[in-house]
Amino acid sequence: MGSEISAGLKTLHGLLQQLAEAESSLSEGPRMIGLSERQIVAVEQQIEKQKLAVKDSRKSSDEINLKLKTKESEILKLEGQLNVASSNKEYEIIKNQITTAKRDRGEFEENGLLGLEAVDVANAKLKELDADLQKRKQQLQSTRASFEKEKPVLESGIQVLQQQISEAEKVIPGNHIATWHRLRGAHGPGALSQLEDDFCSACSTRVTNQDQVRIRTGEFLCCRDCGRALYNPG
Ligand SMILES: [Zn+2]
Repeated sequence: MGSEISAGLKTLHGLLQQLAEAESSLSEGPRMIGLSERQIVAVEQQIEKQKLAVKDSRKSSDEINLKLKTKESEILKLEGQLNVASSNKEYEIIKNQITTAKRDRGEFEENGLLGLEAVDVANAKLKELDADLQKRKQQLQSTRASFEKEKPVLESGIQVLQQQISEAEKVIPGNHIATWHRLRGAHGPGALSQLEDDFCSACSTRVTNQDQVRIRTGEFLCCRDCGRALYNPG
């Protein structure tokens, strides 16, 4: 008789573990999908920011370009004036102005190149983000598709397990059924603990000889320390 209840509880323990695994697989899908959706929103926000960065870099590049053109026409104008200078002194002044303007032009040219480079870098990053977004969207689609396929299989598996568990729970004596439901509600598969040698395998408390005898003779007994239902795995 004693080994009968222990054998029943062992079966029940195994079924509860399978149920917990199946339930966690069932919730894993939506969890992954939710995570993926949040990541996509984050990338989309990054893309919007990056579009602004591209726009800003274009604007600064255009501004430098405009400065460069203005400087170039200033130089042309000065060179024209140089040709019609009326005195040596005037000639020297205009020549100095040209030198200064050319130095400025050199600086603008350099900044102009840097500006173009910044536009390229910003555009490349935008492209990268776009590619990342497309990849993530495809992944999400395939995660969704495979979960949709998996879901009914998991659900019917869970249904079968729940029936098997109800059947297996019949091994628990009627006067302990309320305790059992409370335990199972609180701990799931952890509601049961097998004896390992003389110890409760869940909390490693030693089970008294007297309790071991009671378990062997078919009593439904909970660990005095952790409260889990004990069974002898045989
Ligand atoms: Zn225990």
